[in-house]
Amino acid sequence: MNSTQHAIELENKYGAHNYHPLPVVLERGEGVFVWDPEGNRYYDFLSAYSAVNQGHCHPKIISTLKEQAEKLTLVSRAFYSNMLGQYEEYMHDYFGYDKLLPMNTGAEAVETSIKLCRKWAYERKGIEPDRAKILVADGNFHGRTTSIISFSNDPLARANFGPYTPGFESIPYDDLDALERALQNPNVAGYLVEPIQGEAGVVVPSEGYLKKSYQLCKKNNALYIADEIQTGIARTGQLLCVDHEGVRPDIVILGKALSGGAYPVSAALADDEVMECIRPGEHGSTYGGNPLACAVAMAALDVVKEENLAENATRLGSIFRDEMEQLIGESNLVSSVRGKGLLNAMVINDTPESNTAWNICLKLKENGLLAKPTHGNIIRFAPPLIMTEEQLMDCIRIIKKTVLDYEHAAVSQ
Ligand code: PLP
Repeated sequence: MNSTQHAIELENKYGAHNYHPLPVVLERGEGVFVWDPEGNRYYDFLSAYSAVNQGHCHPKIISTLKEQAEKLTLVSRAFYSNMLGQYEEYMHDYFGYDKLLPMNTGAEAVETSIKLCRKWAYERKGIEPDRAKILVADGNFHGRTTSIISFSNDPLARANFGPYTPGFESIPYDDLDALERALQNPNVAGYLVEPIQGEAGVVVPSEGYLKKSYQLCKKNNALYIADEIQTGIARTGQLLCVDHEGVRPDIVILGKALSGGAYPVSAALADDEVMECIRPGEHGSTYGGNPLACAVAMAALDVVKEENLAENATRLGSIFRDEMEQLIGESNLVSSVRGKGLLNAMVINDTPESNTAWNICLKLKENGLLAKPTHGNIIRFAPPLIMTEEQLMDCIRIIKKTVLDYEHAAVSQ
């Protein structure tokens, strides 16, 4: 009854078809591994889109979750809890911002930041009512709410979901001139940007872009809002990806690995100048900041430091890219590899409309490694950051063998 085939049939029959998963069913996870119902073991090279940086079912996170779940899970913000203030202080000490606004999913924390930015624009910058504009970057991915998809350039994410929320302008990513021009509009309240565009296919901006784009925003009195939901929490080899260029954004958005995959926890971090624009009754969420989330997030962030995940991501990431460069030398199927730390992507030498990346991912699965294409001809590689070098070398062997076998089979057809 619990077979792979049955589980897929149930989802197809009773679930909305808003995803297109690889045909693999996962039943159990531990560290860098996941298992299907038939007992086959796979390396997880997606980490739930970088939510499971600490590895599946990390013992410290799960035991904290169990302990807190037996005590108190939810009070809503109608009352204080003994956990929320403790968590907020922990986050202040960890990330160095005056205050935190707790939410649950990534998209909610992005929405929160948009509201914070607009409120600041009217109450501090002095923009006329309803005139505030937030700049975003072409190719962005910030979530799936109606306002967020209003400024997406992805036709699949947008089509037939209008009318769209006004007040956003999309500019080319990694283009300082375009940003400088857009900032000339005095109604610009802020720039919402991913330090690396994950969903767009791990698009890494030129060196210096983060620093210079931050400085341009400061020069023009606009808030710099970094969406670190995918890039943050050690994924790229620093606690935050902006740390690579010594940038301190006005608002930092966190989600995903903030709970190590155990529970939906997200947050917007800012100093008082921004955060004090929000007053009682103006924003909230029933589950935001609940005791279970607070306990889980602190455990998840402890693990990041205790297990030196940022350092490991830097070290393994550079081994990974070096090895993939070697593969590019041997194969015509891979045209490039790019990324930072353990957020990387391989670009397949075929059109974005082709099935090649999908077919390679099917073969990777057969060989015991799970990865997913993003945008047709790009495969993202983002394993849990607790991976050992020995495990990474095993994965590299699987990836090389799969790509070379695929290429030979295609040539001999
Ligand atoms: N922002 C970025 C950069 C993301 O990668 C994602 C999810 O992939 C989100 C926001 C949305 O997060 P969630 O799916 O938790 O709403």
